[in-house]
Amino acid sequence: MSEERFMDKIIEVCLRRGFVSPTAEIYGGAGGFYDYGPLGTLMRQKIIDLWRQSFVLDEDNIFEIAGSTMLPESVFKASGHLDSFDDPLIQCEKCKSMFKADDTIKRITGTSAEGLSLDELDKIIAENKIECPSCKGPLSKARDFNLMFKTEIGSTGGIKGYLRPETAQNIFINFKRLANFMRNKLPFGIAQMGSAFRNEISPRNFLIRGREFEQMEIEMFYDPAKENEHPRFQEVADIEINIVTREMQEKGWEKLLKITAEKAVDDGIIPNQYLAYYLAMETLLLKEFGIPEDDFWFRHMQDHEAPHYSAGNFDLEANLSIGHMEIIGNALRTDYDLQKHAKATNSAFEIVSPDGKKIVPHVCEPSLGVGRIFYTVLEKCYREDERGWSWFQFPPPIAPLEVAVFPLMKKDGLAELAQEIHNELKDAGYLSYYDESGKIGKRYARADEIGIPYCVTVDYDSLKEFSITIRDRDTMKQIKLPIEDLEIALGELMDEEAGFEEFTTGEK
Ligand code: AMP
Repeated sequence: MSEERFMDKIIEVCLRRGFVSPTAEIYGGAGGFYDYGPLGTLMRQKIIDLWRQSFVLDEDNIFEIAGSTMLPESVFKASGHLDSFDDPLIQCEKCKSMFKADDTIKRITGTSAEGLSLDELDKIIAENKIECPSCKGPLSKARDFNLMFKTEIGSTGGIKGYLRPETAQNIFINFKRLANFMRNKLPFGIAQMGSAFRNEISPRNFLIRGREFEQMEIEMFYDPAKENEHPRFQEVADIEINIVTREMQEKGWEKLLKITAEKAVDDGIIPNQYLAYYLAMETLLLKEFGIPEDDFWFRHMQDHEAPHYSAGNFDLEANLSIGHMEIIGNALRTDYDLQKHAKATNSAFEIVSPDGKKIVPHVCEPSLGVGRIFYTVLEKCYREDERGWSWFQFPPPIAPLEVAVFPLMKKDGLAELAQEIHNELKDAGYLSYYDESGKIGKRYARADEIGIPYCVTVDYDSLKEFSITIRDRDTMKQIKLPIEDLEIALGELMDEEAGFEEFTTGEK
């Protein structure tokens, strides 16, 4: 099976079963824009909810905001995006196709060219005799292309506006109000989930590189003198993290460095506790999403890949069929953004500590891409086995639908009883799906294909002795239970308090 075809298989299921489809598909699509369908929307929401629960709601000093996606030019003048939020563009002189220079180099030579200057990129392209990937024509010299979508605000068009290329700027420009809300007490965090827009030169690989995508971000503000006094660090100190250090990258790495969050900070591998805290939290979250722990790691970005003001960037990369992809960006942004906005607005963005010291907080930013995580989950949970159809082994907490209810036949009152059970499950808060059409085996296959963890079948025994059958997606095993025990059993299975095996062996 070729690697490219693996992604195509996932895309095919996504289109056919209502996970994701291209925006304006009937008009040929819009390049880099996608719509989540009915199942995609349910699963996307679960991914967001799990992030929100552990990264925001479980914390006492983090609150979430929802900022505008359109911001005036002044914001991006100050933040530096207007001048330097660029990608290096190369164009084929023959067929006029456009490409991102560093991506093209990486695809052809296998080495990262991220962050190199235009001259350096030209040199590599010339040395490696790189031609147009589409028609083999000659390529132009690289030039900067600003990725922001520009528009005009108002009928007279007097104010230039841009769709935000990251959610972070809303937080920095609201810093004073937010700091007041947080009673000017460090550390505190402000989270945001929402759309960001980048006019990518060559959007590709489905949800991996789109022009509109969602980010779940936190700007965690802390006193740089107390960067190793994260209030909850002890809770994650023993969590093992996969790291690829700069040194490992230089030597060429095969094995991941597995190290606890605490040791990584003590040994100077991760610059401070704030960053290490989030690398540990992300490790836990991705495992909850069903992504095997050996399939992702944190790569310490090389100096030329990270912004000049960075005090350390660690990308979470996943091993996907299309190669190693950045799924989450983790950045120590120092006080760069606050200082820039303070200077541009002629004010001070600082916190006064209880002992009267003025502090411009530093920022640790975990930036999780919803679409990239969503795609990674699909790829890592996709299964093909002897059962004869493909299926998704989604962990129950993120499965788009949680239970399907089937009457064996539509007649003899089975459909009515199945409907009743389905309605009761919905009332109890389950995402239940009712299906009475086609052979029962077909219905199981349809449910497996979209990753429904449990199917409940109502048959003639249900009428006689008030029992139902639960079928487990992963093992295809079935058990009979009294109808009255269904809700409790499902609750234990969904919360992963009990495994299906325990029911089949009679332990339950
Ligand atoms: P960055 O600010 O470039 O580090 O981006 C932070 C995160 O946003 C990345 O780790 C991705 O998950 C997500 N992201 C950035 N660009 C895109 C894109 N073009 N399409 C989808 N997700 C993206």
